[in-house]
Amino acid sequence: MAKLFILSAPSGTGKSTIAGKLLQQLEGIRRVVTVTTREPRPGEKPGVDYIFLTKEEFEKGIEEGRFLEYANVYGNYYGTPRDQVERNLEEGYDSLLVIDVQGAFKVKRIYPDAVSVFLLPPSLEELKRRMIGRGYRDKNAQVRLETAKGEIPCAKRFDYIIINDFVDKAVDQLKSVILASRCERDSTLRNLRNLLKSEEILSLIEGGECYVKEA
Ligand code: ADP
Ligand code: 5GP
Repeated sequence: MAKLFILSAPSGTGKSTIAGKLLQQLEGIRRVVTVTTREPRPGEKPGVDYIFLTKEEFEKGIEEGRFLEYANVYGNYYGTPRDQVERNLEEGYDSLLVIDVQGAFKVKRIYPDAVSVFLLPPSLEELKRRMIGRGYRDKNAQVRLETAKGEIPCAKRFDYIIINDFVDKAVDQLKSVILASRCERDSTLRNLRNLLKSEEILSLIEGGECYVKEA
């Protein structure tokens, strides 16, 4: 039972940094490479960081229903390719989806079992420092900072909240969320026959009765 994990945060908080490190450390999970019409930043690789499309190509993709969700963020289209998410789920790989808050809510509506994680910056000053450090000009950073003030309260509607003060700590916490979710009771019980070979244990779980009576 592959799972879908959604990592969301205001731009500049550290989603890509945390996701990149996590994927180096954890097996069985693939990042969903999302689609954008914005220009690649220096060092960004097509097909790795994003699938870069023209506005016309993107709009054709919308018409063809290729996106699970899409949004216009800071003047460019961003979208989640439906086929990658479906393929990962079919092939038994967890998916890590790194998207903005509106996208996170849309995906959660389509996949209510998806596990949503909100990454919080330790402070607005630090968020601005990270944006500028990444190369945004001051004006661009200011717009994103104002947007962040509307996004941060959305943290309350996510399943988990992780504070990204230190990269390694945040990666460990995200890893813990994923590892714990993989043992979540209901999905483990649904998938038990694939996980466990012992017929004795299986029949005890499936047909047995817990000896502790309800209080
Ligand atoms: P996002 O994907 O959320 O837009 P990035 O991962 O691109 O953010 O990170 C934005 C900037 O902040 C990058 O320069 C990155 O190196 C830096 N950064 C990320 N996490 C931390 C952290 N815990 N401490 C200091 N700098 C960080
Ligand atoms: P950036 O231009 O900084 O890479 O991304 C801007 C914002 O768009 C980030 O918050 C990023 O997570 C978000 N984003 C990236 N891909 C998608 C997507 O497919 N859908 C949505 N809704 N947001 C996305």
